Amino acid sequence: MHDHLKQLATQWSEEFDNHLDDIADLRRTIHQNPCVSGEEQPTTDLMRNALGIDLEPIAGTGAIGRVGPQDGPAVGIRGELDALPVTEETGVGWSSTSEAMHACGHDAHLAALAGVVKAAKRLDLPFGLVPVLQPREETYPSGALDIAESGRLQAMDVRHVIGAHVHPAVPTGAVAAGSGFVNAAAGEISVTVTGKGGHGAYPHNGRDAAAPTAQIAVGMPEVVRRVADPMEPALVSIGTISVGQGAANVLPRTGRIFATVRSTNSAKNAQIAQAVETMAANVAAGYECEAEVSYRPGLPELVNAPILADRFGAYAGHLNLNNAETMRSMGADDFSFYGEICPSLMCFVGVADGSEMPSLHDPTFLPSEAALENVGKAMIAGYLAAADAILSE
Ligand SMILES: [Zn+2]
Repeated sequence: MHDHLKQLATQWSEEFDNHLDDIADLRRTIHQNPCVSGEEQPTTDLMRNALGIDLEPIAGTGAIGRVGPQDGPAVGIRGELDALPVTEETGVGWSSTSEAMHACGHDAHLAALAGVVKAAKRLDLPFGLVPVLQPREETYPSGALDIAESGRLQAMDVRHVIGAHVHPAVPTGAVAAGSGFVNAAAGEISVTVTGKGGHGAYPHNGRDAAAPTAQIAVGMPEVVRRVADPMEPALVSIGTISVGQGAANVLPRTGRIFATVRSTNSAKNAQIAQAVETMAANVAAGYECEAEVSYRPGLPELVNAPILADRFGAYAGHLNLNNAETMRSMGADDFSFYGEICPSLMCFVGVADGSEMPSLHDPTFLPSEAALENVGKAMIAGYLAAADAILSE
């Protein structure tokens, strides 16, 4: 830990604490007025008011700004703007007023980021701080990809990007920011099986798609086993199967499977998709049907840069956060696109409180107000770890 960065940590955290009441209000306002992916402008406007700095639009409804030194290296801190199409069931007085909900904690991330930036305005930062208000984290096309490809971060000399995400598997007061692989590379496989319809009483005259669709679905995990080394995680999970339109006596002409594929890298996902295509075509052919497989690569794997992860713990500890064991999962986050343009760090901030916590995206998921403080401190520790890394470059 650099002495002056350690001192800055203390000042920053004191300034940040002065904003805890405003950011709790801001969080409730954002929570009550959620905007789904691609429609985040009202949330961006709320953030613009709260931050009180100039922001330029980016990636449609997103925005980006800069505090501290206006030239030289900078550190980005990402806050996601979007809510989910989930109907809230938390029962709190500031529940969503629409059919959308902040069920992934992005309201808490945004409010914490506002507190971090407001506090930073009163400090003498060594490097620029770039708040990145990112749209479309929850859908394709990814907002992070658009921001990474816009070249704005590179033009602002952003050397590292920090993300913080609440997580119900980590205890409150702790943060998991270990180095290396932390989230999966994810893609989507879509299979369409086509045969010949007809009457259920005369199956020999048709070529129904039901049986091959079912066989292909059951065969997909077996394909993974034949492509991926069992010592490296990889999976296919089917989210949708459809065949037939509700009748008992109609031979279905088409079947469809829609699945997510996840592993430790995008090339492996493409290889699994290719093997699914070969298997599906051959199974379908065995039933005198045809199968068409398409693959959409989604997100690259999320890798925490060791130069940041190795420095993060000391600053987090200084800010009274406990360092939890590294959290690795087959979840995916488009934050990984920032890692493709510069060494970046995602911190999973604990919100578990000892009771059985609903998962992210659940209609009852609602991190407590303590999350705002801990997310903010994780963001500060992330900035300081990045500043420390820049000083050592
Ligand atoms: Zn999220």
